[in-house]
Amino acid sequence: MDTSQLLDVFATCAACGEQSSVSVDLATWQEWMKSGEDDDNGNPTPTINVQDAFPDMTPANREVLIGNKAGWHLCNVCWADL
Ligand SMILES: [Zn+2]
Repeated sequence: MDTSQLLDVFATCAACGEQSSVSVDLATWQEWMKSGEDDDNGNPTPTINVQDAFPDMTPANREVLIGNKAGWHLCNVCWADL
């Protein structure tokens, strides 16, 4: 039985203000967001690379996830203009 839940993750481009969104598996997202942080006992957890957490995702979509986590995002167009 598939009980997976999808979450729309948003990131807004810091340069042009364009908003991008990607649908991700909620549980995978939460696991990735928590990775690298301390667990309930104060022990650091291993960091999960975004490409390991979301291996089927395009690089552009991964950038949206990274942007959401980091709080700073550039869209494809603005990356190309750099
Ligand atoms: Zn942009």
